[in-house]
Amino acid sequence: MNCIRDIHVFPLRIPMIRGFSFASGSAGEAGGWAPHVLVKIIDDEGCYGWGEARPVAQWSYETLETVTSTLRRYLIPAVLGLEVHDRRGLHERMNSCIGRGPSTGQPIAKAAVDVALHDLIARRLQIPLRTFLGGSSEKCSVDLSYTLASTDHDELERDIEAGLESGFVHANFKCGVHAEKDIRTAETIRTRLTDDSFLWADANQGYKLHQARRCASEFASIGISVLEQPFPADQRGLMRALRASTRLPLAIDESCVSVADYFEYVSQSLVDYLVIKVTRSGGIWPSVGQIRVAEAAGIPLLVSGLADGLLTKLASCQTAAAFGFYGPAALNGSQFIDESILYPDKPNIENRGSVLLDESVGIGVEPDEAGIRELLMADL
Ligand SMILES: [Mg+2]
Repeated sequence: MNCIRDIHVFPLRIPMIRGFSFASGSAGEAGGWAPHVLVKIIDDEGCYGWGEARPVAQWSYETLETVTSTLRRYLIPAVLGLEVHDRRGLHERMNSCIGRGPSTGQPIAKAAVDVALHDLIARRLQIPLRTFLGGSSEKCSVDLSYTLASTDHDELERDIEAGLESGFVHANFKCGVHAEKDIRTAETIRTRLTDDSFLWADANQGYKLHQARRCASEFASIGISVLEQPFPADQRGLMRALRASTRLPLAIDESCVSVADYFEYVSQSLVDYLVIKVTRSGGIWPSVGQIRVAEAAGIPLLVSGLADGLLTKLASCQTAAAFGFYGPAALNGSQFIDESILYPDKPNIENRGSVLLDESVGIGVEPDEAGIRELLMADL
């Protein structure tokens, strides 16, 4: 029986190459840096796996400091000595020391450990992560979605052009601040994409009910594919009211942390998609639980992220591919961060708006440890 022997935590400052704002706040500014916490888990035979937390404090309630201290003081002591294959036990131990409130407590910190353990197990087995999760090991690719967050019309036009030139077919845009402006943005983007492009509106909790009704009506006419998270995550009743007044497909993101969260929305027929978000949901193990609920309900998948790094991007794509989903995936870290020092081979893995999953074992990539030392926050 192989057990978890050690877990190292690396809080990093990764340079931001452009700003990223949305209705509930910002994930950082150009010239600044983004907090990423890498985790390396090692078993008693020296096998290892990598995971990542990307706390966005204005998106959820976890920060660089809370993720780091929660990992070091609570989650890691709780899981040392656990049998490496025991993923149910991993979450039992993590949830027993950081409990639940209305939903899973501190899911982003937990996701880093969960993803690292999945990587370790697949590496031990010498198979790709998607194969360990029940999928094929054949090479495949996952199509990404280009994120458009500009509120300035000329900048939006330039950004659409940049996305198309980079090879993206699908796009998602940030809305939820000003309904009439959002409708014009939707029209502008839709006319530039092909008919088979998936175009996805994300309000990041920003609308009041009357605004959501107005936008949903126009978005349906314009040809928007889905409206994500129109209302504050804890105002669930508003989704019922919107549902009754629109034919536009709906989805949730910030509202959907635990498997039970998703089950509640599905059982009330309030959503048309599952948005897989590995870090938001506490890792791969609970995400697979959500996928099973969606499959049982006949609901299709989407993938998104938290402007995370390449490691989480690949882990998310591996998880989706294991269940036969190949995009669109709004995993947009490359638009906003420069992580080339961590992943020098990145252009061979992600290019022309797609992520290639080859026969590499585990997640399929690991960060360069010299790069980690360059970006490490030694004072944390
Ligand atoms: Mg979202």
